[in-house]
Amino acid sequence: MRTFDRRRAATAPVPQNGHKVAFLDRDGVINEAPKAQHYIQTWEQFRFATGALDMLKALTDHGYRLVVITNQQGVAKGLVQPQALSAIHRNLCAAVAECGAVIDGVFFCPHLEAHDCACRKPKPGLIQQALVALDYPVDMARSWMIGDSGRDIEAGAAMGLHTLLIGSSDHAAAAKATLVAANQQAAGQLLLGTDAQSDGE
Ligand SMILES: [Mg+2]
Ligand SMILES: [Zn+2]
Repeated sequence: MRTFDRRRAATAPVPQNGHKVAFLDRDGVINEAPKAQHYIQTWEQFRFATGALDMLKALTDHGYRLVVITNQQGVAKGLVQPQALSAIHRNLCAAVAECGAVIDGVFFCPHLEAHDCACRKPKPGLIQQALVALDYPVDMARSWMIGDSGRDIEAGAAMGLHTLLIGSSDHAAAAKATLVAANQQAAGQLLLGTDAQSDGE
């Protein structure tokens, strides 16, 4: 399922191999993660994580398209209303746009783990949905999945993406990730440093 920001700025020309994309987990990466078994139910409860907006702006400035990939099982539990989730994502896109960054789409899984759907991370279904829905080709070899849990890293790796783990003490996840960063600020710097190398800048 998807919320799309239709106010997206005019599309830059598509590079030969497609756009590089930063696929981003939401809770714990863009916004402060709710406590375990808690859910963000309204925009009023949504708090951007420290450094997140600067990271999104830096990625945008360096040519990354931004796509959000998020598990939201609170929907299936009846604790997050679908309309409220849509409003949160509209507000998220608008707030990010005010900072000069652009989110091209928000793809979410509303299901419970027990539903065994194809979209709940660690499965890669949401990323696959995004690849179908985005109106430009994606340069997978230069794209990243950025998350704060092993589920994010597994989903990204399953699609052949580079993976960046932020602020996690999960050693197993860290071992699987391409890069590990302590926080959002460090994540942005690491990712752009890697990018500069591969661009030969
Ligand atoms: Mg998370
Ligand atoms: Zn699902």
